[in-house]
Amino acid sequence: MEPQKEARAARDPVAWLPAASASQTPNEEERREDGTAPPASGLGEEADGASADGLWELPVERAERRPECSRCSRPQKVCLCPFLPLHPLHISTHLYIIQHPAEESKVLRTVPLLAACLPQDKCKVKIGRRFSEDRDPELSAICQKSGTLILYPGDEAANLEEFILDSPVYPSTIIIIDGTWSQAKDIFYKNSLFRLPKQVQLKTSISSQYVIRTQPTNRCLSTLECAAVALSILEKNNDIQETLLRPLQALCSFQLQHGAQIRLSKEHLLRNGLYPKPMPKNKRKLRKMELLMNSVKI
Ligand SMILES: [Zn+2]
Repeated sequence: MEPQKEARAARDPVAWLPAASASQTPNEEERREDGTAPPASGLGEEADGASADGLWELPVERAERRPECSRCSRPQKVCLCPFLPLHPLHISTHLYIIQHPAEESKVLRTVPLLAACLPQDKCKVKIGRRFSEDRDPELSAICQKSGTLILYPGDEAANLEEFILDSPVYPSTIIIIDGTWSQAKDIFYKNSLFRLPKQVQLKTSISSQYVIRTQPTNRCLSTLECAAVALSILEKNNDIQETLLRPLQALCSFQLQHGAQIRLSKEHLLRNGLYPKPMPKNKRKLRKMELLMNSVKI
């Protein structure tokens, strides 16, 4: 199956329909933002047996997508454009976002906000799981350029701030993978193309402000936050970070005002004895949790 097509198929009928993955937390993420009653989920098959019959009596309009703002891609009633810069930021770095197909279908996605702040020719979003020279010659050429970096943490990764100090070629392009940690890992390791650019990571003390989605640790940043920090380093301009984070802060504060709960990182929950689920029986998983509690990099 073409991965690129999956997300659109899942998203098209109803904008708020949760992505297929059971590991996500659609209830919080799909929280109604326009004050209307939550529509009954599903278009028949997925509905609970007991209430399924009633669903067919719902007005047809229910299944229509809420009108989206063409600039920020948010539903028009909760448009975040007032928090975006008036004009796209002037940057010289090219940003490529490699987006896992499941991310595209999420309601609270941050990449459209990021794209809305940047010039169109400087921010490109590629959706998919597998990339190769045949499938995407443009991306392949980008990966082979000496001025291209890929942001992915690990032992092999250089600290971006230190790297640019003595890099013979000043980086012109940075690639960021957008997905959950396991999706990003899969994309990074299963596409040999992404091993070609210099691998870098961010050494930052900022905690994620994207408090309405659970991050594995307090230091895990959303894609928008990673891009904000990386671009401000590459462009040597801290205002970029502030400008790019403004719509995210507005999004989070809006969601919190409308009943979303702060989702603390797994690390925070574990360390404070607040983790809501029983500890895993599987030894490998348990070891991973222990490492997380002790803040050892995994
Ligand atoms: Zn808007």
